[in-house]
Amino acid sequence: MRLLVVEDDKDLNRQISAALVEAGYAVDRAYDGEEGWFLGDTESYDAVVLDLGLPKKDGITVLGEWRRAGRTMPVLILTARDRWSDKVQGFDVGADDYVAKPFHIEEILARLRALLRRATGHATSELVCGPVRLDTRASRVFVDSNPVKLTSHEYRLLSYLMHHAGRVVSRSELVEHLYDQDFDRDSNTIEVFIGRLRRKLGIDVIKTVRGLGYVVAEPEGAAGKSGGASDRHDAR
Ligand code: CA
Repeated sequence: MRLLVVEDDKDLNRQISAALVEAGYAVDRAYDGEEGWFLGDTESYDAVVLDLGLPKKDGITVLGEWRRAGRTMPVLILTARDRWSDKVQGFDVGADDYVAKPFHIEEILARLRALLRRATGHATSELVCGPVRLDTRASRVFVDSNPVKLTSHEYRLLSYLMHHAGRVVSRSELVEHLYDQDFDRDSNTIEVFIGRLRRKLGIDVIKTVRGLGYVVAEPEGAAGKSGGASDRHDAR
């Protein structure tokens, strides 16, 4: 999962970004509204943390422009504690959730986890596929209750595939969602990570679909869950 943090307070941006990296996400940072808008408009993010008070272009304007251009990624806005009108305006223009400053970083992490699982149609913070269990709160993976030690790249890869279980994910999509913009991206490395992941998990939970990409099977009884929030009404 790849996230964008748009916050002009450099210390705060660094603090949030560091916590997100620690939690296993790839993170890009922007320090003003124009830079943030541009990244959100041109890169693929699974969620965005957006401060509203930003130089060059305010957060409400940035969010409004993304939404009008059809950018649907979940957006968590950061608001001042006593500015209720900011929250109302934020939701009206397309925010998915908010956190008021000052906040505990744990709250940002929990709200982002909720946004990410809602966007991919999951109800809980634990994702299960056969004997593999991915705990998004602790960023840990278990096979048959035994912990498996993964590098951050391996964790990100498995987490992305498990969030999108049942859907074939292409290598280029993986590259877009696993690495931050400064990373030297090469889709061949995905194959290497998949190989390591398979060896570490010890079971064949990741299937290769020749010419298309990779897929993790949906858990039993979860049919229709992986298509994302937009087609949840299909489960009549
Ligand atoms: Ca600010």
